[in-house]
Amino acid sequence: MRQMLLLSLALLLFATAQAQRPQTGVCGTDSRIEGYDFMAARLTANLRTVATGAVSARNISYVPIKFHIGSRNDGSGRLNENNILDQLCELNEDFASYEIQFFLADGTYNLISNTTFYENHSATQNSIMSFQKDPRALNVYIVENADTDGGGEGGVTLAYYSPQRDWIVITKDYIGKDDATLSHEIGHYFSLDHTFSGWETAPYNTQNVNAPVNSPLGNATERANGTNCETAGDRVCDTPADYNNGLGWNGCNFTLNVLDPQGNPIDPQEQNYMSYFLSCPDSDYLFTNQQTSLVLADLNSFSRNTLRLDPVPAYAAINDSPTLVSPIGNEITPNFNAVNLEWTGVANANAYLLEVSRVSSFTIDPIRIVVYGTTKVINGLEAGKRYYWRVRPFNAHSTCIASTTVNSFTTGGVVASQELAFVESFQVSPNPVVGQSNVQINLTSAEAFVGQIQMLDITGRPTGVAREYSFGAGNQLVDLPIGQLSSGVYVLQILTQQGRLAQKVVIAQ
Ligand SMILES: [Zn+2]
Repeated sequence: MRQMLLLSLALLLFATAQAQRPQTGVCGTDSRIEGYDFMAARLTANLRTVATGAVSARNISYVPIKFHIGSRNDGSGRLNENNILDQLCELNEDFASYEIQFFLADGTYNLISNTTFYENHSATQNSIMSFQKDPRALNVYIVENADTDGGGEGGVTLAYYSPQRDWIVITKDYIGKDDATLSHEIGHYFSLDHTFSGWETAPYNTQNVNAPVNSPLGNATERANGTNCETAGDRVCDTPADYNNGLGWNGCNFTLNVLDPQGNPIDPQEQNYMSYFLSCPDSDYLFTNQQTSLVLADLNSFSRNTLRLDPVPAYAAINDSPTLVSPIGNEITPNFNAVNLEWTGVANANAYLLEVSRVSSFTIDPIRIVVYGTTKVINGLEAGKRYYWRVRPFNAHSTCIASTTVNSFTTGGVVASQELAFVESFQVSPNPVVGQSNVQINLTSAEAFVGQIQMLDITGRPTGVAREYSFGAGNQLVDLPIGQLSSGVYVLQILTQQGRLAQKVVIAQ
């Protein structure tokens, strides 16, 4: 949300310079949105529940969240998935004091590579978006631009909650760390209105003149003394009157002398998540006690039962960072078309976001893959090029650990032709080799062939360990003495008339 203000200020400045109508970044959820009545009815029900004192948070409530990350058909335009992990970390910080925590539904996020969805999501509401919606989670669709009308009345829509569809749509630039836009939209998801409800299209910042009795969108103007707080504005009584004074206000202390319909000055709460004051310190943003009760009432209502259908994954927080094991230090890999990356696992992590790129900033055509394990063979790299890589551990709840430092390797020029059609399996054991003077090759072939078995060092040079062997059809075990080799990483290759088999072998004597 703070980002929203920064953007709106930037746009205002730009617009002033260009002598154009200002375009401001706003939330699209107001009383004009399709299905607003559903949200208002839920708010009414939640207000009633809170009034009866039925809401009390005894335990942390866990909410499954499904991020749907849009891109064009070819994958271009997709946001950096690190931002998803940063965003979940931010959400859980923002909601920690309200005893609400979010976790990744199914432990991961969803990629939607579809140009229409990415560039014009409204056209896919009844198709892709409905099909991909997870009925057991809070759904967040991330697109190039959440604005549906090109920045018409009210400003450019950066995000909105659709009460009709019960999902959130957000522009990709507003997903990440230190951005409370999503926390604001989740407030709507749990039935909260803007603290300035009714003034979305036209903030009232006129000084020393009583505000009109009704807001531009028709609901009653909230009085400074709170006497109509149950029916005016956001209908929440511990959020003071706010006439959208935050829109375009620079700073965290509103000082204009804006008067309510009775002539009393209003004092809006700048730090409220549901306001548009966006320049307060990040840690100061809050939901009031009544807003929190309403969120919890909504979360515990019958209509939110679907959020409780799946068991909460029992992962504890991740506190450690993995170590990259291989290949590192710009070492040359035995081949380029099947490079095996390996790192150490860390406690409580069950997934790792692996990134590989030609540049250390990972900004140019990065490969990003979620790996459930600590090794991954990467295909499709170019021969003789330097690549950078790093990993980031996470689990469904815990996404705050940063990526490892970057390491690099250079791809060798050899093709690993493990696709020899007649070889059904090829394995070297033990691997790593610890304190043994030979390794065993376990190979199953559909036909007989003669192979030159060689142990190469990591740069591809022969080590002198070699033997020729006539492999028969079927399964066979072949011993290869390696006695004189020192500790290190080697490549065992079998050269044949038809191609080459290769496997990395670690020797630790
Ligand atoms: Zn909003």
